[in-house]
Amino acid sequence: MSDEIVDCPLCERRVFALNGVCPGCTTDLNNRDAVERHVLKRKALPTAIADRARGASLGQIEDRLRNEGADEDLIREILAHVEGKTPEAMVVKNDQDLRRGLYLLSGGVLVTAGTYFIAIHRDGGGYYIIAYGAVFGGGIQFLGALLKFRKRI
Ligand SMILES: [Zn+2]
Repeated sequence: MSDEIVDCPLCERRVFALNGVCPGCTTDLNNRDAVERHVLKRKALPTAIADRARGASLGQIEDRLRNEGADEDLIREILAHVEGKTPEAMVVKNDQDLRRGLYLLSGGVLVTAGTYFIAIHRDGGGYYIIAYGAVFGGGIQFLGALLKFRKRI
């Protein structure tokens, strides 16, 4: 196999293929099936994600992929990408993060304040618990979700 300048259908530019392999995307350009599959995936995946974001069902996306000539493996691969990526699913997940983060954070603060309060009111003093794991973990989860939440508005 010789090295030559070819048009890579994936990169959509002229490349110097080494042994028929595109250096940009490492596709074996002599393997027609592999090339077609790659091209199809590159075109179909963004479309599928956009369809899903607009509320298309997995069945609708699957039908469309099949019409475009995708094989079963490729369909499964793409569906796995778009599954659970509906706007509704993202909102639900974010609300969960927000709630869980807040519970964890306030739980940590309560435990710390509560045990501290008990300790300072006990004769002779005592121990108290600084629940920093819950405070930081919950705080980070809560803030992260809050930032995403604000972006939605
Ligand atoms: Zn390429």
